[in-house]
Amino acid sequence: MNIHEYQAKQLLAKFGVTVPRGGVAYTPPEAETVANELGGPVWVVKSQIHAGGRGAGRFADNPDGKGGVRVVTSMDDVKESVGEMLGHVLVTKQTGPAGKEVKRVYIEEGCDIARELYLSILVDRSTSRVTLMASTEGGMEIEEVAEATPEKILKVSIDPATGMLPFHARKLAFGLGLEGKQVGTATRFMLALYDAFIKLDASMMEINPLVVTGDGDIIALDAKMNFDDDALFRHKDVEELRDEDEEDPAELEAARHELNYIKLDGNIGCMVNGAGLAMSTMDIIKLYGGDPANFLDVGGGATKERVTTAFKLILSDPNVEGILVNIFGGIMRCDVIAEGVVAAAREVSLNVPLVVRLEGTNVELGKKILSESGLAIVSADDLAEAAEKVVQAVKEA
Ligand code: GDP
Ligand code: MN
Repeated sequence: MNIHEYQAKQLLAKFGVTVPRGGVAYTPPEAETVANELGGPVWVVKSQIHAGGRGAGRFADNPDGKGGVRVVTSMDDVKESVGEMLGHVLVTKQTGPAGKEVKRVYIEEGCDIARELYLSILVDRSTSRVTLMASTEGGMEIEEVAEATPEKILKVSIDPATGMLPFHARKLAFGLGLEGKQVGTATRFMLALYDAFIKLDASMMEINPLVVTGDGDIIALDAKMNFDDDALFRHKDVEELRDEDEEDPAELEAARHELNYIKLDGNIGCMVNGAGLAMSTMDIIKLYGGDPANFLDVGGGATKERVTTAFKLILSDPNVEGILVNIFGGIMRCDVIAEGVVAAAREVSLNVPLVVRLEGTNVELGKKILSESGLAIVSADDLAEAAEKVVQAVKEA
């Protein structure tokens, strides 16, 4: 799960990470109140969407205008910026061409930037460790730095037995060229950030830019946070920060029904039980020259209702031109799956080819239900045959 920048900053402040003063607003009058409370003379008006690149992004209705992050020096400019942001669609490198409507703005006190640095914490899967990454190239996307000047990225990986120690932070601070009291300030900053990362079960935190001010203070000017969904049950306060406007509607619907659904870019919808089987199904579709439209694991003990919901989810994706149902009935019975498939296909008046491969408990009964349904369902006996048939059917359609 992702949260907004202002929410990330509020959480980080509780752990002692230094952030600018600011307040969120949903309406122009609220924004004015926040700006008055902050007092100026410099404010930063920041569009809150779950995507980076806002500064360089542009509004869809004003492509030659200013970006989604603006430094302003008068109340009139605060109001003008808020007016141009709230309710308008911001397009950034990360939103894709469709952009994202801005529904909240964050107003902050301006800050005197001497240097812009980069700092992030993530789980490095190759070392299985929490890793801090830092770079002097603040404000730039780290992917671009990694591509052009990989030597400018500093990394420290943390042994889980010790956790982060001050020397880890000092190593990064020196690597960033910090001097004097900045080293101590940066060390405290990084230790606080790490503490937040571990205690909140985050999977990624990115401070870009991490700023050294004219006075030598170190502040998080931007903050991005991702959380491990599987740990959210023990962080109700974080879960409450979820902004459903920022999430994929199909993935939300799936989560409500305890289905593991991830939308992908292809055109073959997949309904599978078990994550491993779902992965192999996607692989074999690729092998036969097709592209999966989604990953969908209906789980081990799905009911007819859940199968119906799963089916509707797949069909809610306009890219889907064919569906492959691949179920191994172990805990789950093939006849239940078949009933769900038939019920769903009737309810949504299915108009794309459907290939079903069932195996396992009650498979004969399942196949009978499918063939007697009167629906144009192509049946397959094994996975390779099923994949080949669905890829073929989509090509012909
Ligand atoms: P992003 O573009 O979505 O990553 O949004 P950021 O929060 O990183 O803001 C983009 C850029 O705006 C930063 O890299 C800064 O250069 C600039 N910026 C943000 N806040 C301030 C501020 O208080 N003062 C000044 N001068 N620039 C700021
Ligand atoms: Mn940023």
